[in-house]
Amino acid sequence: MHRREFLRQAGVTATVASAAALSACAGQPLRSLAALPNAPRPARLRADAIELAPVRAQVERITGVYVCTRPFRAAGPRIETERLGEKTLVHNYGHGGSGWSLSWGSSTLALRMVQATGVRELGVIGCGALGLTSALLAQRAGLAVRIYAKALPPDVYSMRATGLWTPDSRICDAAHAPALAARWEEMARISFGSYQSLLGLPGQPVEWIDGYGLSEQPFGHPGPPVADEPEYGEFRQVRFTPHAVELPPGSHPFPQPYVRRYTTLMFNITAYARLLMSDFLAGGGRIEVREFQHPSELLALPERTLVNATGYGARALFGDDSVIPVRGQTARLIPQPEVNYGISTEHFSMVPRRDGLLVQAYGDSGNFNNSDITPDRAVSEAAVRQLADLYARMRVG
Ligand SMILES: Cc1cc2nc3c(=O)[nH]c(=O)nc-3n(C[C@H](O)[C@H](O)[C@H](O)COP(=O)(O)OP(=O)(O)OC[C@H]3O[C@@H](n4cnc5c(N)ncnc54)[C@H](O)[C@@H]3O)c2cc1C
Repeated sequence: MHRREFLRQAGVTATVASAAALSACAGQPLRSLAALPNAPRPARLRADAIELAPVRAQVERITGVYVCTRPFRAAGPRIETERLGEKTLVHNYGHGGSGWSLSWGSSTLALRMVQATGVRELGVIGCGALGLTSALLAQRAGLAVRIYAKALPPDVYSMRATGLWTPDSRICDAAHAPALAARWEEMARISFGSYQSLLGLPGQPVEWIDGYGLSEQPFGHPGPPVADEPEYGEFRQVRFTPHAVELPPGSHPFPQPYVRRYTTLMFNITAYARLLMSDFLAGGGRIEVREFQHPSELLALPERTLVNATGYGARALFGDDSVIPVRGQTARLIPQPEVNYGISTEHFSMVPRRDGLLVQAYGDSGNFNNSDITPDRAVSEAAVRQLADLYARMRVG
């Protein structure tokens, strides 16, 4: 997830310190209110103030630190048909930080291309967010589908995502946004509609959550982009989630002077991916664990039409250097079912996933074009300490 995008979605976009300064203050306590001359004075908590279950933010409650790369393409995802010998290859990869959010829409576009070939059997290369949705949609359309992938959930990059509705996070660069706008809107609308049919299910694969955007500066100004990343495309013309609501002092327990409540979709990725896998298998889908080193190996597959949903893997398999890895890291804390809200500040976020509270530092540089997936535990521990500091400063009465 892109910090600026998340802050924007959370309604926290504000003029903040430079990305370099943000990164430099990782691990430092948040600034106190006394340091802000124009900040509203903290009010006494009202009797009807929002009450929130506290996160037990302790580094020893970190159950894992996870890194993966977003498959970013400056021009946006590649969804198009290519001939490969006797085969038709439908590409469906390169969704940056929006792969889960746009998956149903993007895979719907890919399915239309598959159906145009008239085949009844389909091979899907890849078993992440895009491969699974491509396979399920094709299956629902009556095709016999086989997934080929070198790794399956939980060992695919998609499983390491944050799990929020972020349909325009690192989806293209600013220069390509106008050309992508119509297609993006179609994908986002289809996906958003699909997610509504995944609500209220056992295990809560998808749910709506509230979150609180916390800022030490007034809202309304976009924060700076991360220093070494391009200006990303933004698609503001369509709103899917309710507008964020600014909360007056005294109505919430947070120490920050500016607080907004936002409402968004959250994907509980462990339960959600398991549901997608079991639906696919229950529908007669077949899965073959297999790695391809070169496109010529695809020619030997029995299916005449193939969907290429290899994500970042497309760079090596198809020699597509337009796929840029953008590294991202999250840490999971032991789940707390009573914590049902998210938090985002200029420095970090906490997402209340059912399989673990996800903590992510914001503003760090060095991630663009970085395929190193070695976890940096110190960064995650610093973010958890910042979260602990926030709770230490929250008012309870
Ligand atoms: C830190 C972080 C947070 C994120 N948060 C969000 C979020 O909140 N919301 C959101 O919508 N998106 C988010 N994303 C983006 C999202 O995770 C990706 O866009 C998405 O996972 C891409 O899915 P995919 O199916 O294309 O790729 P992958 O999940 O990488 O799947 C690729 C599949 O192809 C297979 N494969 C690859 N190469 C080969 C080969 N040579 N032979 C055989 N099989 C192969 C793999 O084994 C795998 O099965 C986040 C990303 C990061 C890094």
